[in-house]
Amino acid sequence: MEKLASAAALIQSRRPEKPVLGLRPQAAGRAARWFIDNFDGDVAYAYKANSSVFLIGALYGAGIRHFDVASLPELEDAATIPGAELHFMHPVKSRSAIRRAYDLGVRSFSLDGLDELTKIVEETTGADGRPARDLKLFVRVAVPAINSLIPLEHKFGIAGAAAADLLVKTRQVAAELGITFHVGSQTTTPDAFVAALQAVRELIGVAGVVVDRIDVGGGYPSRYPNSEPSPLVDFIDAIDAGLEEMPVREDVRVMCEPGRALVAEAESLIVRVDARRGSHLYINDGSYGTLFDAAHLGFVFPARMVSREPEAGEPLTGFELWGPTCDSIDHMPGPFMLPASIRPGDYIEIGNIGAYGRAMAGKFNGYGDYEEVILLDEPQVTMYSEDAAVPARFARG
Ligand SMILES: *Cc1c(COP(=O)(O)O)cnc(C)c1O
Repeated sequence: MEKLASAAALIQSRRPEKPVLGLRPQAAGRAARWFIDNFDGDVAYAYKANSSVFLIGALYGAGIRHFDVASLPELEDAATIPGAELHFMHPVKSRSAIRRAYDLGVRSFSLDGLDELTKIVEETTGADGRPARDLKLFVRVAVPAINSLIPLEHKFGIAGAAAADLLVKTRQVAAELGITFHVGSQTTTPDAFVAALQAVRELIGVAGVVVDRIDVGGGYPSRYPNSEPSPLVDFIDAIDAGLEEMPVREDVRVMCEPGRALVAEAESLIVRVDARRGSHLYINDGSYGTLFDAAHLGFVFPARMVSREPEAGEPLTGFELWGPTCDSIDHMPGPFMLPASIRPGDYIEIGNIGAYGRAMAGKFNGYGDYEEVILLDEPQVTMYSEDAAVPARFARG
């Protein structure tokens, strides 16, 4: 794939017709190394956030060997990664997906109800009628979302007496019993992890079971203009402290499953301005493409003009963006801060769309085709660099 110094260098050399995905594999590698160095346990990448082979390759190169997959197609893809250990952590799976996963060597499954436990046991029972003896089963508990942009608590998870009962029943069939939770995506402070781990500790006490594994899930934040999170090291410290309180901590194997935090910075979108109406810009990608979260979930991404130098002393102005389809919900309210003089024919780099950007893109109205290039410069904002705004506090010890 073509490598360029920056999005500006791309636009200097040619003016692409299609929107362009600018990959920064080095940013994914840096994020993965940070988690591996700082998290005291296995680091699993949540595959659904972005399945670009260039980013998966960078994560793998940095040492990621665990992958959290949520569907059969993801699983079939991830199963081709050499030496990968896959964890099928969607709490509701089809019977055929469970069977196929087990055949592919997957032993980790999550569940949040007795019905799912029955399915897993039945579909992994051998032709000779013997139940599988090597299952690692993670009970997904419901935990409150605190300061999360995308709470997940109402869809999955079990709590209270039902959770204790499910733990006891799962213990009877699992070689290893785990507990997992997800605090919600883009969780900007560690409070949710403190509360979740406290709930897990109480639940273990009520159920009276031996727990072999705790998976603290995903939810670690990235930086966006309208969402400035606590430093990642605060999350690590909160998790360490919560785990210290667990019964027989030294015997519990720990895992985390970041998606967003590993890949958000590793991809940007380069779009052309096709029309301007006041402070509204019409661009050639949108909510049916990589900007779903900007249209529907209130995300604002960093933006910069890359087709020319702004005029001297020119102020930045807030713009709303409209996508290329005929649909009026194809609208990203922003504000996206751009030079006041921006006009049709200019190009914009919209940064940090690596998490759930391309993963969400469809083909509505004939759009949805992208060029891809590798960009060698830094992401517009980062959680990880030595000299970025936040990371002074990152330096541990
Ligand atoms: C989506 C998902 C993740 C990743 O979440 P992020 O917020 O991107 O870190 C982790 N675990 C499970 C079970 C998920 O469904």
